[in-house]
Amino acid sequence: MLLKRASALGPHRRVGCRWLSSGSPRDEYDAVVVGGGHNGLVAAAYLANAGLNTAVLERRHIVGGAAVTEEIVAGYKFSRASYVLSLLRPQIFQDLELKKHGLKVHLRDPSSYTPIRSDLRQKDGPRSLTLGMCGKNNESEIGKFSEADGKNYAVYEQELENFVKAVDPLLDYAAIDLKSFSKASIFEKISLLKQNIHLIKAGRIVGPVAANFYELMTAPTTKILDKWFESEPLKATLATDSCIGAMISPDTPGSGYVLLGQRSTHKKRCRRSRRTAKVAPTGSFSPTGRRSGPSWYSQMLLRR
Ligand SMILES: Cc1cc2nc3c(=O)[nH]c(=O)nc-3n(C[C@H](O)[C@H](O)[C@H](O)COP(=O)(O)OP(=O)(O)OC[C@H]3O[C@@H](n4cnc5c(N)ncnc54)[C@H](O)[C@@H]3O)c2cc1C
Repeated sequence: MLLKRASALGPHRRVGCRWLSSGSPRDEYDAVVVGGGHNGLVAAAYLANAGLNTAVLERRHIVGGAAVTEEIVAGYKFSRASYVLSLLRPQIFQDLELKKHGLKVHLRDPSSYTPIRSDLRQKDGPRSLTLGMCGKNNESEIGKFSEADGKNYAVYEQELENFVKAVDPLLDYAAIDLKSFSKASIFEKISLLKQNIHLIKAGRIVGPVAANFYELMTAPTTKILDKWFESEPLKATLATDSCIGAMISPDTPGSGYVLLGQRSTHKKRCRRSRRTAKVAPTGSFSPTGRRSGPSWYSQMLLRR
């Protein structure tokens, strides 16, 4: 992203671009965002809303990046890569007025269906594992494979949720500069901590279970799940959350962090919008210039 005044569009006129927003491309912008994936679009929206003349340059004919929804087969729209709207910050949802602009979030319930290959199934053994929003159903579904796991699952979920309560608010604040914090006077320290009360709250939650939290953030998911559960179908199902979009395996150290991120935001969204939803095709999240209105984008230029 270039934040200086930039002459962005001269060359693009020559190679032939079209623009989605109203008006013609200008010769100068305050900010030019290269790439119209959802992060670029969100950044551009905030810049434009702050009063900067902003252009988004996208090399494809469509915005959205990896979160795009496209008609690959005539009449059928697909999420080409990202398909679960899980990590969107609530503040962005509100600031960009995404609901007003038509974003509907649908609950993913059931959240997973894991079929068991017939050659791996025990005679008369369960054919599948389905998990969802209902704790009782989850317990009985998991109980088909292991009664102990069925009971442990609720406890596992509760522990993750506690960690979420600690970590989630931190994502919306700038991190404290520890170097200047250590040099600050006692009064400055107290004042800084008062401004960052979420850190104290996080410390209170994580403190008593710090060892478990540290393990979750650094260990491979397989190690964490092996401690909790014995059933392979359940562990395989839960492990998917630690690999999603991360190009890593559940054996990768640190994959537990992805597990926490995915699981936690899923759960939170469930609670926040139980009646509406948890998951939508992420493509519908990617705001376009037209849908988000002229106040958000100065200019959006896409390759023909
Ligand atoms: C297979 C897969 C599945 C995923 N599933 C999920 C999921 O279910 N839920 C979830 O929350 N996240 C998921 N993710 C992650 C998520 O898709 C990414 O975190 C997100 O798309 C990143 O957005 P971005 O805007 O930073 O980049 P991108 O989405 O990669 O967008 C970058 C944009 O920049 C454009 N561009 C690049 N170079 C130039 C250039 N030189 N000039 C002009 N334009 C340029 C590209 O065409 C693209 O449109 C998944 C990722 C993958 C790969």
